[in-house]
Amino acid sequence: MSKQRVLSGMRPSGKLHLGNLVGALDNWKKLQNDYECFFFAADWHALTTEYNSPGNIKENIQEMMIDWLSVGLSPEKCVLFVQSRVKEHAELHLLLSMITPLPWLERVPTYKEQQQELTSLDLSTYGFLGYPLLQTADIIIYKAHKVPVGIDQVPHVELSREITRRFNFFYGPVFPLPEPMLTEVPKLLGIDGRKMSKSYDNAIYISDPPQEIRTKVSQMFTDPNRIKRTDPGNPDLCNVFAFHQVYSPPEIVEEVRADCRCAAIGCVEDKRNLAENIICYLMPIHEKRASYLANPRMVEEVLEDGCYKARGFAAQTMEEVRTAMKIV
Ligand code: SF4
Repeated sequence: MSKQRVLSGMRPSGKLHLGNLVGALDNWKKLQNDYECFFFAADWHALTTEYNSPGNIKENIQEMMIDWLSVGLSPEKCVLFVQSRVKEHAELHLLLSMITPLPWLERVPTYKEQQQELTSLDLSTYGFLGYPLLQTADIIIYKAHKVPVGIDQVPHVELSREITRRFNFFYGPVFPLPEPMLTEVPKLLGIDGRKMSKSYDNAIYISDPPQEIRTKVSQMFTDPNRIKRTDPGNPDLCNVFAFHQVYSPPEIVEEVRADCRCAAIGCVEDKRNLAENIICYLMPIHEKRASYLANPRMVEEVLEDGCYKARGFAAQTMEEVRTAMKIV
């Protein structure tokens, strides 16, 4: 039986942090073994909000790809490509725009929320409104069955399903209905206790050298109720402990849990241990990074091959779409 297809993408914002690693890449690594996976750098999506400062999109794609490959995404197992290099996404986006009622896009929760939050940007653009439609084109052009998403992205996949249903109703059953694939992922906050994000300057990056990791971990917020060294702590309220659960061996996690509760270990010492465990975890990833950095041509070759495969698939789908819409 042929494998089901999975599609997911990431905006190219440059180097990735540990939140991206546990939130998406670790899951992608597992999926590539069981599904036919297409993973892409969503550079057109980046322009929906950063149209006035495209900055270093090309360099950011390169940086992001090095992280993807170094953490274990394998071009032998999945297709890695860049959205803007597969022009068929834009064609399908245009054709879908003909059948998509405007209110469907206006009622997407993130549309209003982001307009209110990102007040420094003028987001009253068609590109921003049409972002979930482009996302639909990204998904269905590969006839993806599953889309790994966080809970906040489920409404987008629901919209994609509605649009797909409408297309199939008008023109015939060209596309399977994509389904959201919800995965439980550990929640790692930034070193200041807020969501880990480049814009908050609170992230630990996959590429951070050991000394930087030690410095950042030493600055991490801990259980806010543990003021003095002699106070017992509550690991469940501590971001450092959340990191232990991902990066430390299980027996150490249990030891920290017990020692923290009876103040047998101090936060300074515990953070020092955690930093070493993160460094140890990242060591093989850093070795791979070094080899890709020394040979950027290898990354470009992966992308060329991935874009070629993605274009082949997308072109075939567009043949079917044009035939169904009688615009051959
Ligand atoms: S000992 Fe570790 S887990 Fe406990 S509060 Fe301090 S940093 Fe957090």
